[in-house]
Amino acid sequence: MKHRLLPSVLLTALLTTAAPVMAQTAGPSAAVVERIAELKKQAIQGVESRAKLAQEMNDSIFSFGELAFQEFETSKYITEILEKNGFTIKRDVAGLPTGWVATWGSGGPVIALGSDIDCIPKASQKPGVAYREPMIEGAPGHGEGHNSGQALNVVAALALKDIMEREKIPGTIMLWPGVAEELLGGKAYMVRDGVFNGVDAVLFTHVGNNLQTAWGQANGTGMVSVEYKFSGESAHSAQAPWRGRSALDGVELMNVAWNMRREHLRPEQRSHYVIPDGGDQPNVVPSVASVWYFIREQDFENIRKNFEIANTISEAAAKMTDTTVTRQVIGTAAPRHFNKAIAEAAYANIQQVGMPQWTEDEQAFARAVQRTVKGKEEGLATTVKKLEPPADKPESGGSDDIGDISWTVPTITLNYPANIPNLPGHHWSNAMSMATPIAHKGVVAGAKVIAMTGIDLLSRPELLVQAKGYFTSEQQKNQKYVSMISAEDKPQVQINADVMARYRPEMKKYYYDPSKHATYLDQLGIKFPVLEKPKN
Ligand SMILES: [Zn+2]
Repeated sequence: MKHRLLPSVLLTALLTTAAPVMAQTAGPSAAVVERIAELKKQAIQGVESRAKLAQEMNDSIFSFGELAFQEFETSKYITEILEKNGFTIKRDVAGLPTGWVATWGSGGPVIALGSDIDCIPKASQKPGVAYREPMIEGAPGHGEGHNSGQALNVVAALALKDIMEREKIPGTIMLWPGVAEELLGGKAYMVRDGVFNGVDAVLFTHVGNNLQTAWGQANGTGMVSVEYKFSGESAHSAQAPWRGRSALDGVELMNVAWNMRREHLRPEQRSHYVIPDGGDQPNVVPSVASVWYFIREQDFENIRKNFEIANTISEAAAKMTDTTVTRQVIGTAAPRHFNKAIAEAAYANIQQVGMPQWTEDEQAFARAVQRTVKGKEEGLATTVKKLEPPADKPESGGSDDIGDISWTVPTITLNYPANIPNLPGHHWSNAMSMATPIAHKGVVAGAKVIAMTGIDLLSRPELLVQAKGYFTSEQQKNQKYVSMISAEDKPQVQINADVMARYRPEMKKYYYDPSKHATYLDQLGIKFPVLEKPKN
C-alpha cells in the first residue's frame, strides 16, 4: 500500500509549531517522523533509478584523468549535466578557471554538496586488473579516486531535486568541485572569495573504503604550501665564480637551517620540501633556485608560527648568500573540524543504507589488489564503521583543504566504499577499483546517504539549529578560523598545464564513450576481475 503523504504546507506548519517545543522534548512528532521516513524512501529510489548515470559519470571522469588546476574536461562534463537538469551554473569561481558553482531551488536552507575532481601524477592505470599496467606510461590517473565524488553528488542532488519539486519543499541545492585538492590549492580561495556565504550546511564526499563519517577535530593537520624563490647572479663557475651569487646556496642554507630548527618544534608538526629548480648546469652559477615547502601543524596558531619561522629562515639564508628571496603561497588547508549534529544525522542514514553487497568476484579482486601492493589481504569491508567521538588528542598526519570550509560553514565529510582497504594511497593501485562495480556500488551507497541527509537538513529545522549551535559554541570555543592566504595571493592555476598538454592528446583516445559501451571496462575490453597478469 502506498503511503499518503502529508501535504508540505501541513508539514511546514507541524515543523514550525513543533520547533520550540522540540528543543526540550523528545523530538519531532510522530507524523513528521513518518513523513521524513517516507521522503527518505523516495530519496533511495531516486538514487537507485540513477545508478546508470552514476556509473557513466564515474567512468567518464576516470577516463579524463586531469591533474590539479587542469580539470577542464571534467568541469565541462559535470556542469553540462547539471545545466541540462535545470541547475544554474556560475563558472570561473574564485579565480579558478575549472571552478564553478551550480545551484537549483530558491531560498533557504542552502545545502552545498562538494567533492574533489583532480587526480595524481604518474598514476595512469587500467581499471579492473590487479597488476600494474598504465593506460599510458607516465600519464596522470585517478590514483586516489576523485573521479567518483561528483558522480555521487550529482545523483544525490537530482534525487533530492525531484522530491523538493514534487513536495514543494523550499531550499537551495548547491554543488561545487574541489579544484586542485592534491595541491591544497582551491578551497581557501573559494572561502576567501565568499563562495560559501549564506550556505547553511556542507556535505562533502570523499572516496574511502567504508561508509562512514566523523565529527570534531579530525586526525591530521592544517598546512601552508609555499614556494621560496631565491635570486642571485650568474657567472662562469670556474672562470669567475667570485662574480656569481648562487641562488642554490640560498636554498641549501635554508634547508639546513630548517632541518636543525625542526628539532625544536612541537612533535605534532610535519614539514617536507622538494627543490623544483636547483639551477641549470654546474658550470653556470645558479641565478635562480626555488624550494617548495609543506608546513603542517594541528592548530592555526602553530601553523602560523611555523610559517613565520620558515619565512625568517628564508630571509636569513638570502642575507648569508647575498641573494634575494620571494615567496608564493601555493595552497593552504585549515585543520579539519566536522559538525556533530550533521554527522549524527548522516550516521543514522548510514546505518539504514549499510555496506553494498559485494560479490565473490569483487572480494577476490580486492584481495588480489591487496596482494599486489603487499597490503593485508582482507578484501572489502562488509560492515559500516561506528560513529566514534573524536580523539582527545588527534594524531598528526596529512591535510585536506575541506578544513577551510569546515571553519566557515557546519560541514561533514562522508566517506563511501568505492576503493579497497590497505592500499598505499596516492598510488596507481588506488586507481584499480575506481572504474569497476566496486566503485559503482560505493557511489550509489554514498549517494543514498547524502540524499537522505539532505532530506533531514531540508525538513528538520531543529537539525540546522543544532548544527549552527555546535559550530558557534563548541567548535569555535578555543580557536577561530585563520586564513593563511593574503588578499593578494592567487590560485596558481598555471601548475600542471605543461604536463597535461603533453599527455592529453594521447589520453583523449581513451575517453569513455557511454553511447557505445555499457561500461568503461567494456570499452577497454577488460573482463572484470582480472586477478593476474596474463602470461604470454
Ligand atoms: Zn582526496
